[in-house]
Amino acid sequence: MIIEKKYYFYAGHRNKNAGEKCGRLHGHTYDVTCYFEFDFIDKKTGVTFLFSDIDELVEPIIKYYDHHFLLFEKDEMCKVFDKCNEPYRKLPFETSAENMAIYLFNRIKVETKLNIVKIEFQETKSSKVIYVPKRKKTSS
Ligand SMILES: [Zn+2]
Repeated sequence: MIIEKKYYFYAGHRNKNAGEKCGRLHGHTYDVTCYFEFDFIDKKTGVTFLFSDIDELVEPIIKYYDHHFLLFEKDEMCKVFDKCNEPYRKLPFETSAENMAIYLFNRIKVETKLNIVKIEFQETKSSKVIYVPKRKKTSS
């Protein structure tokens, strides 16, 4: 059984190494769709995992970035934000949709222990990335 859950957050960012347009300070409404796989259904309730229980685990991770500026830790802009005592979210990579998708996927997997199998990270109305890690081959 696959459960799809949709989340979103608003954030500013820039990506200095990805061209003039992406290099300017700007913001997005990020739509994050997560897919969780469960191999059981509770016989008594008929439910795999309560949607609200998934929200309780995943939402704090997503909302951590809401209404913040996302900056690569090596971006000079970090110094400006620090100097102005402006809160922001420092990340260990350029804040591309691809990097954010992989990062959020791994945070959700590690921190919630839920079996997330796919994540869609939508940056604009017309563009999103889909991350599905390759399954490790098991030797038999
Ligand atoms: Zn952008």
